[in-house]
Parts: sequence; structure tokens; C-alpha cells
Amino acid sequence: LFFLIMPVGQLIGAYSQLQTGLGALQRIEDVLRVPTETEGDVVRVGPPRESRGATPVFGAGAVPALVFDRVTFGYGEGETVVEDISFTVSQGTRTALVGPSGAGKSTLLALAERFYEVRSGAIRLSGADIREVSRDELRSRLGYVEQEAPILAGTLRENLSLSAPGLSDDELTDVLRRVNLDEIVKRSPLGLDAQVGEGGVLLSGGERQRLAIARTLLAAPPILLLDEPTSNLDARNEQAFRAAIDAVPTDHTLLIVAHRLATVVDADQIVVVDQGRVVGTGTHHELIESSTLYRDLASHQLLVA
Ligand code: ADP
Ligand code: MG
Repeated sequence: LFFLIMPVGQLIGAYSQLQTGLGALQRIEDVLRVPTETEGDVVRVGPPRESRGATPVFGAGAVPALVFDRVTFGYGEGETVVEDISFTVSQGTRTALVGPSGAGKSTLLALAERFYEVRSGAIRLSGADIREVSRDELRSRLGYVEQEAPILAGTLRENLSLSAPGLSDDELTDVLRRVNLDEIVKRSPLGLDAQVGEGGVLLSGGERQRLAIARTLLAAPPILLLDEPTSNLDARNEQAFRAAIDAVPTDHTLLIVAHRLATVVDADQIVVVDQGRVVGTGTHHELIESSTLYRDLASHQLLVA
């Protein structure tokens, strides 16, 4: 898992060596969300990363993993998409973000990854304002699986190797098994070298997202941001997705935009967002008592596409 301490430039180098034919830097940037801007970044050398399952070395102890402190943001001038958002994600816990479509849930994940800058307030990663953390460090500590996770045209192996080059077939097969994707390896005689197609078209939507989760698990970020798929997951994919979430080591911190009641009921904390504001925080049982919106969402199995 040495990728985590590799500078992005080296990663791209490693990847180019791996698949010179692909070459398209833009693609790699799309897939990994490699930062394109370098100026203004604070160059900071963090402590070496521990491998998956080890106690996170960064900010261990009482400092919360992730804090949203009165965060306000809008995509355009004069437009406010999230307003005065505050909540704290403790290390090693699971927090679910729930709320109606358009509430601003995905935006909050994007802000944590610093795809956009907050207009006011701050997001703190292990006590450090994310504006003070280099982008490399931020991306290595905060893994992000988007709702429509970008998949590279190439093989299963290449997609997995983006986050952790040089792993053995056994290691790759093992991570695919953890996210319930081992059957796609068996589906083709090429196994791990089976093509996934342009953007992963040869996979189902659920499989693409689980492949993205597998990729992120290999990178083993101590904090995982996950945007749960909303639509057309059949019962089997749904179960597989659950398994993929369960494959996240329990000492890792998880912030998940959840659309399924099954995902939120056992979360340590649920944050209810409505029209860009936090309207409730608590456990499932607490919110069933205290939040009309949550009760309403829960009675509809939370699914809001
Ligand atoms: P949710 O994930 O809760 O459904 P989003 O965070 O995706 O909500 O969106 C919140 C609001 O921000 C919506 O009104 C949406 O249209 C708008 N929005 C989301 N992404 C963008 C973007 N990239 N550019 C402009 N507006 C956006
Ligand atoms: Mg969303």
C-alpha cells in the first residue's frame, strides 16, 4: 500500500508505466480526482501512513476525524446551497447524511474533499483546517466514492491498481471478494484482465460502484466518504452493496450519504439535512422521536432519488 505515501506525480508515473497505451492524463485525473492546481497548496509532510487496520496515526485520540464548523457554500454568486452546517464525525464512527433530494448532501462530501471552497466556516480534518492541508494529504486521508464513481476503460486489474499498484492477484481477488465482486472475475476467462469497457459499461451500475469501493479500500484512507447509489439497485446488488460497506474496517471513519434505511439504522450518528441546513442530529431512535422529517423519510424507507 505504498501508493499512499507516493506523491501524485509518481503515482501518475507508475500508472503510465502500467498502461502507457492509455496515456490520457485527463482521464486519470477524472478517475482519481488528482488535483490540477499546485500553487497555493501548503506543502506539508505528514507522518507516514499505516496500513489498513492500524490505528490512524493522524490526529488519533480525542480530536474528531472530521468537523463541519458553520459551513456555508453556494455554487454560484448569491446562491446558497448549504448554510451554517455544523456536525462532528468522531474517529472510527459511522455518520449517515440523510435528507430530501437537492438538500446539499453530496455537496457536503465534495466540500470535504475540497473540490470547492467553503464560502464561510471551516472543515477540519483531525483538527486541521482543510485549507491548511496539502491536497495530496487530503486525498490520501479522505477517500471518496461518488454516486457515479468514474471507472477507467481498461481491465479490472488496472482499475484496482490505480490506488495500489503492484498487488498480487490474490490480494486483488481478495478485495473483490470483500465487496462481493469476485463473480465478475470468474465471469471471464481473462479474470482480473477482463475489460470493463468505456466508463465501465460492461459492468452494472452497482458493480461499478463496488469496484470503486474496492479501489478505495485498497488505498485504505482512514476516512471514507461514500455517496450511496439511489436508483435501480436490485435486491442482489443491494445486498452486495451492504457487504461492501461492511467491508470497510470498523476502525475507519465513515461519512455516508445514505438513501437506505438499512444503512442508517445502525449508524452511530445520523445528520438530517433539509434545504441546505442541518435539521436534526442523533441516532435512528432519537430522530424517530425528535424529527418529523426523519420520521417521514424513514417511513418511506428513506429512498429519495
Ligand atoms: P443532494 O445530494 O442532497 O441531493 P446536492 O448536494 O447534489 O444535493 O445538490 C444541492 C443543490 O446544489 C441542488 O440544488 C443542486 O442542483 C445544486 N448543485 C449540485 N451540484 C452542483 C454543481 N456542480 N453546480 C451547480 N449546482 C449544483
Ligand atoms: Mg446527492
